[in-house]
Amino acid sequence: MTANSSTHPPRKLVKTLKSSKDIGNLIKWYMLKAKIAELLPWKKSAWITSSTSVELLWGFDIFPLHPENNACIAGARKISQDLIEHAESLGYSRDICSYMKTNVGAFDKKISIQMGGIAKPDFVVTSGTICDTHVKWFQNQARRMDVPIYVFDVPHIVNNTSRSTKNRYKGYVIDQIYDFFDFVEDTVGKKLNEKKLIKTWQNSHRLTDLWQKIYNYRKKVPSPIGFADTLGDIFPLVILPGIKKGIKYFENILKEVEEDVALGKGILPKEEEKYRLMFEGIPMWYRIKFFHQLMNYGAVVTYEPYTFSFGPYRPYVDNLEDGLNVMAEHLMYQPYIYNLSDRIAYFKDVIKQYHIDGVLLHENMSCRPSCTGLYDLKQKIQQDLGIPVLLFTCDMNDPRAYAAEQMQTRIEGFMEVLAQNKKYSKIQKALD
Ligand code: SF4
Repeated sequence: MTANSSTHPPRKLVKTLKSSKDIGNLIKWYMLKAKIAELLPWKKSAWITSSTSVELLWGFDIFPLHPENNACIAGARKISQDLIEHAESLGYSRDICSYMKTNVGAFDKKISIQMGGIAKPDFVVTSGTICDTHVKWFQNQARRMDVPIYVFDVPHIVNNTSRSTKNRYKGYVIDQIYDFFDFVEDTVGKKLNEKKLIKTWQNSHRLTDLWQKIYNYRKKVPSPIGFADTLGDIFPLVILPGIKKGIKYFENILKEVEEDVALGKGILPKEEEKYRLMFEGIPMWYRIKFFHQLMNYGAVVTYEPYTFSFGPYRPYVDNLEDGLNVMAEHLMYQPYIYNLSDRIAYFKDVIKQYHIDGVLLHENMSCRPSCTGLYDLKQKIQQDLGIPVLLFTCDMNDPRAYAAEQMQTRIEGFMEVLAQNKKYSKIQKALD
């Protein structure tokens, strides 16, 4: 069966919440601010990577530029391959993260921000929280642009790390945050404004609290919010934690979700929501329609560790000491870097709570942290929970890794397995 086969299910329109449309205005606002920051010499900006607490920059009134976010835009605009090939022509290998190579290409070729380009910053800041790529990427680019770099050295928690060792690690990270305050003052002449930083943390608390509430509603059947919404919703979590802009957006999303749930409305009507899926990994930005097409089969993605992990709950704080503790913990504990046993437990919990019928695992050629251990994870879920898992190999920003016909065939096969599995579990339940 192929994509053009007459047995292919009729195309459904991609459904999103009405409030999700406002994300375009938020992105436009951000891009305008980025442009202003670039033009006015007294405005300071910095590049920052995912998981490196963007609140630190907002707290200092330094404008955050996010190369990964911009790389996604280049992917979605379908120009990432050209930028990646430019980076490869400079000697970066095919195996290196395609976000990094997209950023190298976009910066060198002076692509506009609307297409995924990024301006030269006053400094760059990163951490090894998620991956060593973040560190090497920023070191390379800082050298090429001739700007200062700050790297947070974040110890990783493993299975048998004791409480006292964790506390020692936390102290080590907090020390570095103080050191970062000095770095900012020395580099761009800005002093820490304690009140402003605390306010930033409080806004961040509100934003992540709303995100947790929205996510919680995805447990409902039918699911009131799908992947087409949450894909855009990560923008405020990535770049706007700490400022008010994203809060209003999430408040509107939550209100709409609550109203829909009260009416029993889902992103697909209840009778059409046949399969609830979990998707693990970074989406293929150049091929987002892959996820939308799942709805053709009555499949709704109702949980993504990727989108969830951008908004871990930040407790409310009203003083510097508590705020630094929260921030250090945020740097050290990310769902993205769970060890295998924690990850298996996390998946099992989500599968039960969100009534998941099947799991899609993206073995991403670019990203070791997100795909290490996927074969063990697949086996454990299938064995212990008896639900099907589809593991496929692609790349988040490099379209050369995507084989369209093969993916279509695999998805169709997976839908057949899901249907059989549901049928047999119904029979099994009736017999029990
Ligand atoms: S995609 Fe993976 S390897 Fe690349 S920067 Fe992100 S976490 Fe690191």
